[in-house]
Amino acid sequence: MEPFVAKAVYLVGYWLANFAIRVPHIRARNRQSIRTNRKTVADSGLFLAVGFGGFVVPLLYVFSPLLSFADYTLPLWCGIAGTALLLVGDWLFWRAHKDLGANWSPTLEIRQAHTLVTEGIYRRIRHPMYSSLWLLVIAQALILPNYIAGFSGLLPFALLYFVRVRREERMMAEEFGTDYKDYCQSTGRLFPKFNQP
Ligand code: SAH
Repeated sequence: MEPFVAKAVYLVGYWLANFAIRVPHIRARNRQSIRTNRKTVADSGLFLAVGFGGFVVPLLYVFSPLLSFADYTLPLWCGIAGTALLLVGDWLFWRAHKDLGANWSPTLEIRQAHTLVTEGIYRRIRHPMYSSLWLLVIAQALILPNYIAGFSGLLPFALLYFVRVRREERMMAEEFGTDYKDYCQSTGRLFPKFNQP
């Protein structure tokens, strides 16, 4: 894929799409007060690192020559596969935000009126938003032919995911008890579970 096309695909499919989907949820979330807060320095720091690596570093690559020393060539199929993953990832990101509604938060928190969502996309997957983010950061690596801008989302997100997911499940189990434990039985973490008990 031509670097110019790769940059355009990234800007529209990752940058703009993510903002358009997430910004209304930031507004909705700010209207609700927090009941339980489990955020840690590591969790918040990694969340910022994902934003920096997914949104700021690629912008430097797209609009300045600063990162050009790390350019390399990617075969066309990588760009095409990356674009396909980006489309699926955007759809899943949108769907997860829609179904989670005001229960969404950037770090580990329980809201005052928090409800356990088990329907929609959450019916078979427990962490569809994290699935979508895996797709998006892998797509970023496949689309942007630059060692730094391509991988700057994937590395911090992988760390964030592994630091967070078990703690999030523990927090949800403490908050929602057997309802959440039963829900875990009938769902997959990142991939849908179809053979429900
Ligand atoms: N891990 C989920 C949600 C990410 S947002 C996903 O990947 O789709 C993180 C916040 O969502 C957590 O702080 C938790 O409060 C909330 N959360 C996670 N799973 C939830 C569920 N099934 N129902 C309601 N809130 C949930």
